[in-house]
Amino acid sequence: MAGRNHLYVPGPTNVPNEILNAMHVAMEDHRSPVFPNLMKPLLQDLKLIFRTEAGQAFVFPATGTAGWEIALTNCLNPGDKVLIYRFGQFGHLWAELAKRLGFDVEIHQVEWGKGIPVDHLEARLKEDKSHEIKAFLATHNETATGVTSDIAGVRKAMDAASHPALLFVDGVSSIASIDFRMDEWDVDGAISGSQKGFMLPAGGAFVAFSQKAMKATETSSYSRGFFDLKDMANSNKDGYTPYTPSIPMLYGLRKALDLLLEEGLDNVYARHARLAEGTRKAVAAWGLKQCAHPGFESNTVTAVMVPADKDARHVISTAFSKYNISLGAGLSELAGKAFRIGHVGDMNDVSMLGAIAGVEMALLDNGFDIKAGSGVGAAVEYYRSTAK
Ligand SMILES: *Cc1c(COP(=O)(O)O)cnc(C)c1O
Repeated sequence: MAGRNHLYVPGPTNVPNEILNAMHVAMEDHRSPVFPNLMKPLLQDLKLIFRTEAGQAFVFPATGTAGWEIALTNCLNPGDKVLIYRFGQFGHLWAELAKRLGFDVEIHQVEWGKGIPVDHLEARLKEDKSHEIKAFLATHNETATGVTSDIAGVRKAMDAASHPALLFVDGVSSIASIDFRMDEWDVDGAISGSQKGFMLPAGGAFVAFSQKAMKATETSSYSRGFFDLKDMANSNKDGYTPYTPSIPMLYGLRKALDLLLEEGLDNVYARHARLAEGTRKAVAAWGLKQCAHPGFESNTVTAVMVPADKDARHVISTAFSKYNISLGAGLSELAGKAFRIGHVGDMNDVSMLGAIAGVEMALLDNGFDIKAGSGVGAAVEYYRSTAK
């Protein structure tokens, strides 16, 4: 098919040409005396994206899923109790992984479409007088439902309960695109991955840990091998890694950090907010509902519900086969009931209008009762009136 495939899944996201070019490098010796010239500033600048000065950032050759495991196995002890709210597929997977790793996982179900209930959290932590709960696992942006939770509110709830649990935050689809403040929110473990807001291929687990979390690694008796933070920290101190790093990933990350910092994080967040709002205007103009309840709408992905007599999988397959655009599927409970439009990473007004036009055509083809141009028109008006 002529023209390119338009990628609107919420990860992997489009990789800008500057990053692709930066990754097109000859391999080099990662034990050479000049390698730290790449590695040291990289880890330093990565902290800026997590918005931490006090914490320490790490790059593992892995994915976001590994970030969950790194936090759990380095900072806790076998069998420790952890608390999580489940309101989407990613929170579900994190809870399941924690169970497999032998932790005592307390799961509270929340309706899909809502986020972390901070009042409930505060009450539950106050109840836990003996401090049995060792960590709270928070999914900042639930990519399956397009729901963003209030991590500042989570911190407030933990402080109000004077609870010492570690706060681990899955920011795989929020960090580098939605406001995230590790130090301000006292996050102990911040977890991200390369292929969403960082605009890189998959293959990098980017994580950061507070001093409190680093201290916890010293007393953790959990068995670790590849994901040992102390090994990584020891090598990183001199600008090296304990095993062979992905050289193209590191050069790509260097370019991604340069692009993000050049745009400015606040501008990056504002761009995502605008692109998301235009998408939501289009969804409303089609008369369709989002999965996210009011107040929880994500700025990186919108999950769109289809009426009961429709199958969202047909919309996705028409969009792909007829118009060469890739949309996110409804996951698990949402299979067939929702499709997802990613608006994360290297996107601008016109890229989102492409997504909205493609979705609109696929909806029309599948007999949705909408008017051609309705969603596109609503987004055009919004983007025009808010463009600088
Ligand atoms: C994508 C994603 C993950 C999983 O990341 P992988 O890189 O696929 O391991 C975890 N959490 C959230 C919120 C995500 O969006």
